[in-house]
Amino acid sequence: MKEIYLDNAATTFMPPEVIDIMERYSGTDYGNPSALYEKGRNSRKALDHVRGIIADTVNAREDEIIFTSGGTESDNWAVKCIPYLEALRKGMSSAHIITSSIEHHAVLNPLRQLEDIGYNVTYLPVDRYGRVSPKDFGKALRHDTVFATIMTANNEIGTVEPVNELAGIAKKAGIVFHTDAVQAYGHIPVDVKESGIGMMSVSAHKFHGPRGCGFMYISKELKSMWESEIELPLIAGGGQEYGLRSGTENLASIAAMGKAAVMSCREVEKDGDYVRTLREYCYDKLKKNIPEITMNGDPVNRLPGNLNISIKGIEARSLMLLAGEQGLYISTASACSQKDTHSSHVLKAIGLSSAQAGEAIRISVCRYNTREEIDDAVKILSGLVNKLRSYGGY
Ligand code: PLP
Repeated sequence: MKEIYLDNAATTFMPPEVIDIMERYSGTDYGNPSALYEKGRNSRKALDHVRGIIADTVNAREDEIIFTSGGTESDNWAVKCIPYLEALRKGMSSAHIITSSIEHHAVLNPLRQLEDIGYNVTYLPVDRYGRVSPKDFGKALRHDTVFATIMTANNEIGTVEPVNELAGIAKKAGIVFHTDAVQAYGHIPVDVKESGIGMMSVSAHKFHGPRGCGFMYISKELKSMWESEIELPLIAGGGQEYGLRSGTENLASIAAMGKAAVMSCREVEKDGDYVRTLREYCYDKLKKNIPEITMNGDPVNRLPGNLNISIKGIEARSLMLLAGEQGLYISTASACSQKDTHSSHVLKAIGLSSAQAGEAIRISVCRYNTREEIDDAVKILSGLVNKLRSYGGY
């Protein structure tokens, strides 16, 4: 059976060039970067080289990039360590955090843990397209606000947030601004100097790198402030990653991530145009073939590859499972919350009813997908929708 993979927001495949690098650093070049003999020194060189490559893709300095195990770890690090550190540094007895109501659970769940131990969190609402208002953000600031975290782009509906503006407001107020750029990096241009954000989480498997690998950007300014006043290791141990995240480096995955980063970022705008055209083609074709579908999310400020649609009268989960049986892979809500699409906090936050949320599918396209694949996918989906609607007496 031919496979058509249109669930690239959940994870992506690794092209042969990336797998080759991963094999090289798992197989022959496996030295520990901390070892002082040549095999170790070569690994250290490779690690530093990748750090430089990654830094260039976001206009950062090499020492502002810390390798982690991916998005969840980086988000937990930012949310759990920074408000504590900042409150301590500023001698505050209470700490307030600003976030949005549509963040990924890798941000929301650690925030809930902080609330349990006495932190205050403001969850900003979003408009019907999923956008956070900079005005609301400014209004939410309090005397004890120490940290803000707003995602660059949403994983379910693809809405791109005005993070540059938000980061600017936070900077003026002396607040650390973190962004979860897991869905954005490698798909739209990201420039940390231009945006002025303090911290940013990225995950390799969302841009054709390996799963279980990613990085955190921490601005030099924040890093030196914390280093001079307070220690901030996420994971204490042997002192790797500038002492911030100990543990023998996962060089095979990191090197593979470097290759995937270069391949995704070198022509990010051109690739984005191609992917956007493919997504629009897919939506137009679906609209022609399936009556009563609506797009969720922002029509303009949107990730190129994200198409989230509600199909009237169709239970999205059944459609997703039946499509899978024909080799077409799409998704309902986000990959991490597929168990219960009716309770998607993102779809609720943009005003969808429980029924509409249960009718929502996410199709996510990447630069390797083709028009022929979209044609086949639309054929499969419209056939299934017709069948399901006929059963339901639609
Ligand atoms: N943040 C967002 C926006 C995501 O989409 C995901 C994964 O789906 C994560 C964080 C978690 O990243 P990882 O799978 O690397 O832990």
